[in-house]
Amino acid sequence: MSGLPIVYHTDYVAPLKPGHRFPMSKYGYLREALIARRLLPEAGGYIAPAPAGFAQIASVHAPDYVDRVFTQSLHPEEVRVLGLPGSAAVARRARLSVAGTTLAARLALEHGVACNAAGGSHHAGPTGGAGYCVFNDVAVAARTLLDEGQVARVLIVDLDVHQGDGTARIFADDSAVYTLSVHGARNYPVRKARSDHDVGLPDGTADAAYLAAVRGALDEALVRHAPDIVFYNAGVDPFEGDRLGRLALTHEGIAARDRLVFARLRARGLPVVGVLGGGYDDDIASLAARHALLFEAAAAGAGM
Ligand SMILES: [Zn+2]
Repeated sequence: MSGLPIVYHTDYVAPLKPGHRFPMSKYGYLREALIARRLLPEAGGYIAPAPAGFAQIASVHAPDYVDRVFTQSLHPEEVRVLGLPGSAAVARRARLSVAGTTLAARLALEHGVACNAAGGSHHAGPTGGAGYCVFNDVAVAARTLLDEGQVARVLIVDLDVHQGDGTARIFADDSAVYTLSVHGARNYPVRKARSDHDVGLPDGTADAAYLAAVRGALDEALVRHAPDIVFYNAGVDPFEGDRLGRLALTHEGIAARDRLVFARLRARGLPVVGVLGGGYDDDIASLAARHALLFEAAAAGAGM
């Protein structure tokens, strides 16, 4: 077992109708992949969150929206935009994911690095959810640590292939939080928000150009902001075979990206919170193997 604290809950998998396009089962496969890589023992070994409460989540989302999620009374249009059913299991999963990222952030402040084996729901914005994202776990966790006075400045590095539009909107007028999004310029969402720094990449961008873009944007963010903690959305949908990606990173390119992020941030002694982000593939085992790269890079970063 590594020294990397991993936050996980069996209810990160919420039942969906057969054939639903969201790869919900990947979270269970990921746990198996982490066991195979000796990042978790055969049983347990992870830290399980309890569902986040109303007030904490309503610190970044409209209270009436949070209430509709909690009480399974979302409007049909909200369910359509979300792409997930407004069920009790989906609500519980979203609350667990928020609590999981918050817990991982506290563990990162204590141990230097920690990961949530879920999260990265970056399309959820001030007024509601979108694109498989019910609550913005990273935004809630950042808001919570800021409100508690645990940190004064936060950097959010979002390398999911889709723009972190919800996160950008939540922190649009908040100088304590610097949002960086490196994404596919022509990918969802069609209407982009404005992050503190957006890098929109052309379709088909491959390893070398991608890594150069990430390195440059990350170094610039660290010059401009000097954070007390960094949240890293390590979505693996820039992968060449991703169903929704449009970019062309290899498996090794994703691995190099994750190593680069942790090496750069840990060299400066910054606490780093890793969250899963997106990844879409009918081959769930290979998808889980790609998500496991975050944890391998984080475990190496934990030793720095
Ligand atoms: Zn994505």
